Amino acid sequence: MNLILMGLPGAGKGTQAERIIAEYNIPHISTGDMFRAAMANETALGLEAKSYMDKGELVPDAVTNGIVKERLAEPDTDKGFLLDGFPRTLDQAEALDQMLKDLGKEIDAVIEIHVPEEILVDRLAGRYMCRTCGATYHKVFNPTTVEGTCDRCGGHDFYQREDDKPETVKNRLAVNVKSSEPILAYYKEKGLLQLIDGNREIDAVFADVKNIIE
Ligand SMILES: [Zn+2]
Repeated sequence: MNLILMGLPGAGKGTQAERIIAEYNIPHISTGDMFRAAMANETALGLEAKSYMDKGELVPDAVTNGIVKERLAEPDTDKGFLLDGFPRTLDQAEALDQMLKDLGKEIDAVIEIHVPEEILVDRLAGRYMCRTCGATYHKVFNPTTVEGTCDRCGGHDFYQREDDKPETVKNRLAVNVKSSEPILAYYKEKGLLQLIDGNREIDAVFADVKNIIE
């Protein structure tokens, strides 16, 4: 089973990826891991990617695609794989089709864990900190026992980091929606896209994932 997993930040993609690879014993191929491995092993493409990253530049698609192709050619992917974080652009999606064709493989399903953006904002933007002792809380998932008083130090002065503010989170989500839309449309057109309602318990979401895979 050759899968692509998609979903916005906070949608629970990481949790579902862990469940999938444990249940089906297929490799989890994330771009971050692949880059780290290629650089650690000092492959030609790994070194090339590193030269761009050291300069603070984006790694060109040709290099990224090459690293993905090398990974997909490894024998542990013969019984399937879970791609996560790739493709990020339509160009990469088209390149992926070509490299899979070269390798005699194809994508069986693209699973999108879908959660409405306003719910993701609640999940991602609720974090706040005690200014006195640095304790971390979350408005929904982990609030202080007494409202406005730090459990750890009794302080009353709280703040939110820039990254955790609703406006910042909304902008980050909007950028992600914009970049993933053409990719989702591409796979929908091919009849591969499977949408799952991610705004439920982890087990319920995973039950749907299993239904799709099986
Ligand atoms: Zn405190």
